Amino acid sequence: MPLTKAHTYGLDNRIWDPVHECMEREGLRKLQFERLQTTLHRAYHKVPCYQKKFQEAKITPEDVRTLDDLSILPFTTKEDLRVNYPYGMFAVPMRDVVRIHSSSGTTGKPTVVGYSRNDLNTWTELVARFMTAAGVVEDDIVHIAFGYGLFTGAFGLHYGAERIGASVIPMSSGNTDKQLMIMQDYKSSALVCTPSYALTMVDRMETLGIDPKELDLRVGLFGAEPWSEEMRRELETRLDIIATDNYGMSEIMGPGISGDCLYRNGMHISEDHFIAEIIDPETGVVLPAGETGELVLTNITKEALPIIRYRTRDITRLDYSPCPCGRTTARMTKTMGRSDDMLIIKGVNVFPTQIEEVLFQAEGIEPHYQLIVERINNMDTLEVQVEVNEKIFFDEMKRQRAFVTQVEKQLASALGLSAKVKLVEPSSMPRHEGKAQRVIDRRKI
Ligand code: ADP
Ligand code: ZN
Repeated sequence: MPLTKAHTYGLDNRIWDPVHECMEREGLRKLQFERLQTTLHRAYHKVPCYQKKFQEAKITPEDVRTLDDLSILPFTTKEDLRVNYPYGMFAVPMRDVVRIHSSSGTTGKPTVVGYSRNDLNTWTELVARFMTAAGVVEDDIVHIAFGYGLFTGAFGLHYGAERIGASVIPMSSGNTDKQLMIMQDYKSSALVCTPSYALTMVDRMETLGIDPKELDLRVGLFGAEPWSEEMRRELETRLDIIATDNYGMSEIMGPGISGDCLYRNGMHISEDHFIAEIIDPETGVVLPAGETGELVLTNITKEALPIIRYRTRDITRLDYSPCPCGRTTARMTKTMGRSDDMLIIKGVNVFPTQIEEVLFQAEGIEPHYQLIVERINNMDTLEVQVEVNEKIFFDEMKRQRAFVTQVEKQLASALGLSAKVKLVEPSSMPRHEGKAQRVIDRRKI
C-alpha cells in the first residue's frame, strides 16, 4: 500500500530492533531452533499437560532435530488452557509470576495467562517494535482507549509506548465524549483502540461538530478484532490518519505478535519470539508457504507460560516476500476472522469481514452492520442489517427497494451468497467500545 500521509514523521522508517527485525533468514531459523529446544524442555519437564501430550504421541523433546520437526508435536488448544484453569499450564512457580491477565472470553470461559519479569520485558520490547513500525516516536502522545484490566490490550500498548518514550494517556475505554475532550485538549497524536471503537468515536465527533482534521491525531494502532481493508480506508479518510493493524492474543503473549509497518502490506511477525505455521484447519496438516489456513503459533521465549503449537483459529496467510521497509520477518495478511466466526449459509462459507467489504463499497451505507443468522424450516438464513444515510432511509419506497436489491445482488456476485438485506435507520445500530459483536446467531438459542 503506498504511503499516503506526508506529515507522518514516522516516515523515516525507524526500526526498533534492527538486529532481530532485519535478521538474515538462515540466522533467524537457527535462533528459532535454539529457542524452541529450550522451550520444549521447559514445557516437558515443568508442565504435566505437555508431558502427557508428548507421552501420548510417543515423543520427547529430543525427537525434534530440526525446525521442520515441529510438525510432529501435538497442538495446544484453548480447551487445554480451560481444562488446566487457572494456573495448571504455568511452567514457573507463582513466586516468579509478576503479572496475571486473561483472554477476553469472546468464545467461552476466559483463559488465564501469566508473565515472569523477563516475559514482561520481552512483551514491552515487542510492543515497542510494532508501535515503532507503525510510526510512533518519542514525540507522540499516545491515547490508549482499550479497557484497562485483565484484557492484555491496554497494559501491553501502555508499556510499549512508554518504552519508546512517547507520552502515554491511560484513558481506558468508554465515556466517548470525555475521550474526545481529552483528545482535543491533550493533543493526542496516536490512538490505540479497536477499529470498531475508532468508528464509534469518529461518528460521535461528527455529531458534536468536531472536525477530525483539526485534531493532532496522525496514526491509529488498531487491533483485537477482525476488520476489513474497506474499514481501514473509512477510518483513514474520516479521521485523517494512517490506520495500522496489529495482532495478538493473550494465550501467546498479548498484543505484539505482529503489526503493520507503514507500507501496510501484512503484519510483520516477531519471528525471533514466535514460530508461525499455517495448517489446514480440517486435517491439521501444515500447508506450503503462501497458502491460506489456520495460524498456529509457538512462543519460544516465554518463561511463565510456554505454549506449543497453539491453534489460534484465526485464518490468514504468510508472506515471506521482501518488504520495502527492510524488515525480513514474515508478514501475515489481515485475518479474515476466526474459523469459529465463519458462517455457513446454504453451503457457502463466509466471514463477516467479507460481507463488510461489500457493504462498505456501496454508496449511502453507513459502516454499522449486524448479521442475524436463523434456522427457518431447517434452512439457514442470513439477514444483513445495515445502517444507511438519511437520504436513502427517507427515500421513496420504490427507490429504497431498488437499493436493497442492488446490495443483495452485490453480495450474491461477490460472495456467492444469498442474504436478505434490511436497511435500518441512521444511528440505530449498537455502537462498540471494545470488541464488536457482529453476528447474532439465533440457531444456538
Ligand atoms: P479472546 O480469544 O477471548 O477474544 P483475546 O483478547 O486474547 O481473547 O483475543 C485474541 C483474539 O482476538 C485473536 O485470536 C483474534 O481472533 C482476535 N484478534 C486480535 N487482534 C486481531 C487483529 N488485528 N485482526 C483480527 N483479529 C484479531
Ligand atoms: Zn514492512
